Amino acid sequence: MKNQPAKIYGVLGNPIHHSLSPVMHNAAFKAEGFNGVYVAFESSDPEGSIRGMRALGICGMSVTIPFKTAVMPYLDELDPLAEQIGAINTILNQGGHLKGYNTDGLGSMKALEKKIDLAGKRCVLVGAGGAARGIGFMAREKGMKLVVANRSADRGRALAAFLDCPFIPLERIQETETDVLIQSTPVGMFPHENASPVPDGMLRKEMVVMDAIYNPLETRLLKSARARGCTTISGLEMFIHQGAEQFRLWTGLNPPVDVMRAVVKNALEPK
Ligand code: NAP
Repeated sequence: MKNQPAKIYGVLGNPIHHSLSPVMHNAAFKAEGFNGVYVAFESSDPEGSIRGMRALGICGMSVTIPFKTAVMPYLDELDPLAEQIGAINTILNQGGHLKGYNTDGLGSMKALEKKIDLAGKRCVLVGAGGAARGIGFMAREKGMKLVVANRSADRGRALAAFLDCPFIPLERIQETETDVLIQSTPVGMFPHENASPVPDGMLRKEMVVMDAIYNPLETRLLKSARARGCTTISGLEMFIHQGAEQFRLWTGLNPPVDVMRAVVKNALEPK
């Protein structure tokens, strides 16, 4: 309807000025003719931020580091998947009722499923932080046979216990044989693009290698994997698909994935 005020959406995090979510979601709103505006909110107060969201009638929020678990107690309801993962990245405000969702794991599986059938495939998950938890949970749901590889044994073992799968110390990752490798540590992220947590020697051409990092678009790990003939997936795909699921929750519309990918890719490509 004409002259209706735009619906407000945003991303909550700290720091947040580098976030590409505003570029991605505003392009998606425009492409679908949806009367919405998406902005970045930097805060150090998760409880106050959620109170503000209610008071101002903000319709939806992406939630990123360091608030993915911190905001949970202040919501009215959690989607069962988010509750099981123990973290949210999305809030939907329906008439003052705030519900938390997790689309991170779903986004990573959507990106993978475009390249490989997941059920029964062996998967080494590198890292045991927040991202790994969501990815690992969804990978297990998809029937993948997981192994967690992590630098610190305590965190790695805790995630492996949560996922009911084996743990291997990161320095012994070469001993594993896998169909899929998912990298979910910050190693190789800008400005340390020459680092990789995985020895090149374990990369075989039959493998699918996905990196959660999207800056740079092609990490050192993905470069090595491509050179060895592996199928590679950038963290950009995971980012786009987690955002696409947010867009679907907020608007009820099919997300314009190609538009979202193009604007984020353009923002990341060296000028
Ligand atoms: P996190 O909770 O801080 O976890 C970091 C993990 O990386 C831990 O397992 C940690 O191991 C490991 N790690 C950190 N530095 C390391 C090093 N120098 N060598 C080996 N291991 C190291 O972080 P997160 O939220 O899971 O995020 C991880 C990455 O995923 C980030 O790069 C983030 O940008 C990316 N991400 C991407 C998307 C996307 O949509 N594409 C979404 C979420 C996250 P220890 O236990 O030994 O400390």
